[in-house]
Amino acid sequence: MFELPRRALDVADQVERFFQRRVLPNNKLWEQQARAGQAIPDIQHTLRKEAKALGLWNMALPRLAEDEPGMRLSNLEFTAVAEILGRLEWGSHVFNCNAPDVPNMELLQLFGSDKQKEQWLTPLLEGEIGSAFAMTEPYAASSDPTNLETRIERDGDEFVVNGRKWFASNGSHANCELLILVGVTNPEGQKSQRQSLLLIPRHTPGISVVRNLPVFDHFSETNLHPELEFNNVRVPATNLLGEAGAGFAIGQARLGPARLHHCMRAIGECEVLISLMVKRSQSRSTFGKRIDEYSSTQAAISLSRIELDQCRLLVQQAAYLLDTVGNKAARKQISMIKVAVAKVYQDIADRCIQLHGARGVTGDTPAARAFGKARAFRIYDGPDEVHLQTIARLEANEQSLDGLEHYVHE
Ligand SMILES: Cc1cc2nc3c(=O)[nH]c(=O)nc-3n(C[C@H](O)[C@H](O)[C@H](O)COP(=O)(O)OP(=O)(O)OC[C@H]3O[C@@H](n4cnc5c(N)ncnc54)[C@H](O)[C@@H]3O)c2cc1C
Repeated sequence: MFELPRRALDVADQVERFFQRRVLPNNKLWEQQARAGQAIPDIQHTLRKEAKALGLWNMALPRLAEDEPGMRLSNLEFTAVAEILGRLEWGSHVFNCNAPDVPNMELLQLFGSDKQKEQWLTPLLEGEIGSAFAMTEPYAASSDPTNLETRIERDGDEFVVNGRKWFASNGSHANCELLILVGVTNPEGQKSQRQSLLLIPRHTPGISVVRNLPVFDHFSETNLHPELEFNNVRVPATNLLGEAGAGFAIGQARLGPARLHHCMRAIGECEVLISLMVKRSQSRSTFGKRIDEYSSTQAAISLSRIELDQCRLLVQQAAYLLDTVGNKAARKQISMIKVAVAKVYQDIADRCIQLHGARGVTGDTPAARAFGKARAFRIYDGPDEVHLQTIARLEANEQSLDGLEHYVHE
C-alpha cells in the first residue's frame, strides 16, 4: 500500500484537528461575515493568528529559508494537507497557503533581488499583505502569452506601463498591495523573449479598477477578479523581476506549483461532495426505494470514488516529480493532472447536484458553487486544449518502445 511520508501524515493530522475544532465549526459565521461585505471576514483574521501561533503556516512553500516563518513541507508532503484546506473555499487562507499569494511568493523566492524580497516577500510570508498576478488580457488570446499587448517601456530610471488586464484575481481586494504584471518590454524580440515581469505597488497612480468580474454570476468581496486599466503607470526600473525578456520562462515556473495546489484543493472539495452524495441518497426515497438502492446512484458514487482516487495518485506522482526533477521535467504530469482533475471535479459536482435534486442548484450545499468553480478551472491556469496539446507533443517526443513493427501485420 502506497503511503505518504510520516511527516506529511503527522502535519496533516495536526491540521485536521485544528480544522475540525476551529475552522469548520466557524464556516457559517465566515459566510455571514462575507455576505455582510467583509473582504476578510473577522473570523478568518482570528483563525489566521491561531494557525500561525501553532506553526501551521506557509505549508505550501518547500523553499522557505531557515529564518522564514512556516513549515518546509515538500510538494508531496503538502498534498495530504492541501486536501484538508480545500474542503472549504477559504480554508487555505487560514494557513497562508492560498492562491495567488503562494505562487507569487515562489516567484519572489526564485527571482527576487534581496531588496525585492525584503519589500514584498517578507510581508507576504507574514500574511500582512495580499498580491495578484496580472497576465491575462481582455483583447488578446492569453492562453498563448506571446500574444500579450500590455507595454512596459523604459523611461530613464523608470518603467512606464500601459495596457489592460483582467481576471487578475485578488487585484482589487482590500489586502492587495502587490501586482506582478506580465508585459512586453521588447516588441521586436523573439516571440518568447518579448515579455518581462514587473512588480507594481497596487496603489501606484494610473491603475484603475474597471470592474470586478462575476464567475457564473457569483460575486464576493472575498474573492475578486478585477479588470484593471494601466495608464502611464510609473515604477522604478529596479522593480523588474528577473531578467528583461525572461517573463515567459519565469511565468512558466510559477504555473507548476500553482496548478498542483489547485488540483490538491479540488480533490479535498470532491471528498466533501462524495460524502454529501452518500448521505443524501441514504436519506430520501422515491417509488418505494431509497435513492442509494438505484444502480444509477451507485454508479454515480462509485465512479466518483474511482475517478477521484485515480486523480489523487496522479497528483501525488506530479508532486513527487516536482520535488525530485523540477518544474520543467514534470510539465507533462502537471498538464495531465490539470486536465484530469478539472474534469473529475466538474463531473463529481454535477453528480452531487443531480442527487440533491432542486436543492442541488441552490446555495444550500457547496455543489452548485463547486460546479461553477470546476468549470472555470477548465479554463484558468491554461485551458484543457492547451494542456492536451502539451501532453501530446511530449508524448510524441518520449515514445521509446522498440519493435513496434512486430505488433503490426501489413
Ligand atoms: C476564475 C478565473 C481566475 C483567473 N485568474 C487569473 C489570474 O489570477 N491571473 C491571470 O493572469 N489570469 C487569470 N485567469 C485567466 C485565465 O488564465 C485565462 O482565461 C486563460 O489562460 C485563457 O485565456 P483567454 O481567456 O484569453 O482565452 P483564449 O486564449 O482566448 O482561448 C479561448 C479558447 O480557445 C481555445 N483554445 C486556445 N488555445 C487552443 C489550442 N492550442 N488548441 C485548441 N483550442 C485552443 C480554448 O477552448 C480556449 O478556452 C483567470 C480566469 C478565471 C476564469
